[in-house]
Amino acid sequence: MKATLWGTRGSIAAAGPDTVRYGGDTSSVELRTKNNRAVILDAGSAIRRLGSTLSEETRVDILLSHLHMDHVQGLPFFAPLLDPNIEVHIWGPISTTRTLRSRLARYLSPPLFPVRVRELPEVVFHDVPPSSFEIDSLHISADLITHPGATLGYRIAEDGAVLTYLPDHEPALGCREFPNAPEWTSGYDLAANSDVLIHDAQYTDEEYVGRVGWGHTCASQLAVFAEMTAAKRLVTFHHDPSHSDEMLDDIHEELKPLTNGYELIAGQVGLTIEI
Ligand SMILES: [Zn+2]
Ligand SMILES: [Zn+2]
Repeated sequence: MKATLWGTRGSIAAAGPDTVRYGGDTSSVELRTKNNRAVILDAGSAIRRLGSTLSEETRVDILLSHLHMDHVQGLPFFAPLLDPNIEVHIWGPISTTRTLRSRLARYLSPPLFPVRVRELPEVVFHDVPPSSFEIDSLHISADLITHPGATLGYRIAEDGAVLTYLPDHEPALGCREFPNAPEWTSGYDLAANSDVLIHDAQYTDEEYVGRVGWGHTCASQLAVFAEMTAAKRLVTFHHDPSHSDEMLDDIHEELKPLTNGYELIAGQVGLTIEI
């Protein structure tokens, strides 16, 4: 399979001359299966641009990690949703109170948006519990990870190659012995021995001190989490909106000496990775 980063930013879009290389749009990653089926991870603002390239598809699947705005805000601007020739399947974390459809309808309805879900032509919603399921040639495992509100991480396998997607994640929270107790660490089972791990890299260590419990990872914790999981390649993701390209270059330089046993890849917009 092949993954392309369309949106790498966390929290809110941060377009401007100082975010051109890493990208200003919020989370969205395009996967292509070996059969060239499109499976999209999250529907941040970047999914608008991605959607404009999909007019020839007959089916598109979107896996939502969770329903924070930076992961769903692009949905109403995703052209395939309005195209009767394309069947869109939206997968997202199950809730004990309301369906995925009704939770997304809070956004896809006035006054926040003029078009209602029921006016869309061909959308199928899937409420996903922690479980495994198949899409095309992909075997997907979903599990809850540490982040405010129900949030799924995804482990996606095809013919033995594994991509793990943990865009918003604070593995050190609630783990007294981080990083010495892998079996008690959020996200470990999903990420263990991945070929590629796309992971939250939101904060510097200095920033994290005042933001413990906000659901994101700082540089040094990211380095040890990746090492603990024995991932082969780590792609940094969900960059803080206040971090310019220059700052992100510096953060990656500081991460390099902490990197042990895996390849560090700066998650920049447009990057394509073969897995
Ligand atoms: Zn986010
Ligand atoms: Zn979030």
